Amino acid sequence: MANIKTTEEIQAMREGGVLLSNALQAAVDAAKPGVTMKQLDDIARGVIEAGGGTPSFLGYGSKSRPFPATVCISRNEEVVHGLGNREIVLNEGDIVGLDIGCWYKGLCTDMAVTVPIGSITKERATLLRVTYDSMMAGVDAAVVGNTVMDIAGAVEDTVPNGYGIVESLVGHGVGHQVHEAPNVPNFRGKHFPKAPLIDGMCIAIEPMVTTGTHDVETADDEWTIVTVDGSDAAHFEVTVAILPDGPEILTPVPKVRGVTA
Ligand code: MG
Repeated sequence: MANIKTTEEIQAMREGGVLLSNALQAAVDAAKPGVTMKQLDDIARGVIEAGGGTPSFLGYGSKSRPFPATVCISRNEEVVHGLGNREIVLNEGDIVGLDIGCWYKGLCTDMAVTVPIGSITKERATLLRVTYDSMMAGVDAAVVGNTVMDIAGAVEDTVPNGYGIVESLVGHGVGHQVHEAPNVPNFRGKHFPKAPLIDGMCIAIEPMVTTGTHDVETADDEWTIVTVDGSDAAHFEVTVAILPDGPEILTPVPKVRGVTA
């Protein structure tokens, strides 16, 4: 099966995952009031390229409409796929999703965090924590013998009532391609196949949670996904290898103030 990785391929993803995490951490550390999205994008791209990697989102998509940035940067009611090359200044109190991927030694990895800009409201801080916790619950369920629906259920059960879990965007296999089989949903959708989790499979687990409903739409830029009701959204993501001893996070989670540090 194409979506199973060899030991050597997983080692390449492990190394690429550390490089990617370092790039994301550099952007996280620079994410302060007064900084632009474009500045964060440039910082992350610099770290990837200096480490021998290639950004995987830059140029992704169709030839006529390639993604124009290294990082998907999505602020407040923006859920994912925001254009990281925008000259938008980040303000105190914003929450900003930073989603990044890279190629390294022929394999790709994918990860994201949502970070506070300066001090944020208690509601926004809780949203970040809830989303991170749901991702980690999903990771714990990523074991051989389970199916993707065990991950979906773990994520869903960790998100408290009153939040929305985005349904139209899901996690995915990753490694040989930026997106590959299987789909890894964040809720128990009956229309998703119960793809088994197999030794050597690598998947991106990436819950997207809102403070409103699960409904999202595409903004006028034809990339950015936003909440329909204008509620806040958060997104966390890791690339995980499914191994006989249990799940291994290949993209070390960065230190995010108030969430992971
Ligand atoms: Mg992804």
